[in-house]
Amino acid sequence: MTSPRLLDRSRRAVWHPCTQMKSHETLPLVPITRGEGVWLYDDTGRRFLDGVSAWWVNLFGHCNPRINAAISEQLETLEHVMLAGFTHAPVVELSERLSALTGHQLGHAFYASDGASATEIALKMSMHAWRNLGETGKDRFISLAGSYHGETVGALAVTDVALFRDAYAPLVRAGTTVPSPDARQIEPGETEEDAAERAAHALAHYLAEHHEEIAALIVEPLVQGASGMVMYHPHYLRRARELCDQYRVHLIADEIAVGCGRTGTFFACEQAGIWPDLMCLSKGISGGYLPLSLVLSTNAIYDCFYDADVTRGFLHSHSYTGNPLACRAALATLDIFEADDVLRANIARAQALGDAVRAAFGGHPAVRHLRQRGMIVAFDVDTPRPDFAQRFFAAGLDHGVLLRPLGKTVYFMPPYIVDAADIAHLVNGASAALQHALS
Ligand SMILES: *Cc1c(COP(=O)(O)O)cnc(C)c1O
Repeated sequence: MTSPRLLDRSRRAVWHPCTQMKSHETLPLVPITRGEGVWLYDDTGRRFLDGVSAWWVNLFGHCNPRINAAISEQLETLEHVMLAGFTHAPVVELSERLSALTGHQLGHAFYASDGASATEIALKMSMHAWRNLGETGKDRFISLAGSYHGETVGALAVTDVALFRDAYAPLVRAGTTVPSPDARQIEPGETEEDAAERAAHALAHYLAEHHEEIAALIVEPLVQGASGMVMYHPHYLRRARELCDQYRVHLIADEIAVGCGRTGTFFACEQAGIWPDLMCLSKGISGGYLPLSLVLSTNAIYDCFYDADVTRGFLHSHSYTGNPLACRAALATLDIFEADDVLRANIARAQALGDAVRAAFGGHPAVRHLRQRGMIVAFDVDTPRPDFAQRFFAAGLDHGVLLRPLGKTVYFMPPYIVDAADIAHLVNGASAALQHALS
């Protein structure tokens, strides 16, 4: 059994992310000793079904034997080498395979380690590409209301979450937000597509006046994750693509959370039939194993930097850029997608997950806007309790499920290996947690 000492030591020595540390005076940390498949175990025999994929990163379960084997094998030959001036097979293979997955529309992969760095890279690339074209005035960015693109200072410029941004406002050169196509905001008689068109209209209006100073529009395609699994119609992405072309503004797709099959297609953009100019990937790309992020770019942007002049190059780097272990984990992840025909299998899996959530919560008097996009199912809870999320999370753990509401939005985002029994366990745990959290 974990001694209370470990929890005390963690509280003293580890500064936990996204946490008011004082809250752990009353709320115990959860010590995890082992993961296997959808389950996380502590050493007292308690286990939790990971309904949030370890913060949206895990795709094929914890300690997946195939990904483990790929990393172990890579570990025998090369753990890391700098990527400036050097290269290695894992990074080349991964770049080629990702390019192929975009139909070679996005053929150049630039690597970093976490999602926020990918956002930083995409913003810098966009602005620098315009600058290399002589358009020095295009240095501002647009994002959607409620957007989340990471929490480093540059990424906060396009992240519209007050809790993360307000304290650092003096450091941030905030971009402009335009209305979200949030499908919950349909008015009587409107379809979700109408709501998307209305938001596109606002974007058109803004771009008509300000396009000369705008480098890029950055969006989370189809699902705005951190602001509460806000879902919207693909029509918005098609209109955003048209408007960006019309006004010479880059479209950056942040597929950090929605990529890698989460919404049903490998890339969420595919559902709108569009490609962005730059695409950010992270989270699931390494199967949830190792920090890996990247930005995929079109030839057109790449070519803006290709020159004899050093200063026209993209002089950005991170120490662990293109880490071979992380790339090998990503390759093993892509192998699983192919070998198991995962996107196809997920159609039935998503249906089962959605059906179970709808059956359990569809008629609940406090549940609003039950929604689904692929392997993400969410609903809002009408409750005055400010501590709803905490209570739901804690009660979920008591019932063997890891579910962590975003404010008053409960969501399910499990690894792509959940079976019928797992789904039943998840939904039963959530029902008990909801009852407790509302009481
Ligand atoms: C998680 C996330 C990020 C940031 O990734 P980190 O690895 O946490 O820095 C950026 N954009 C989106 C859409 C995300 O969900």
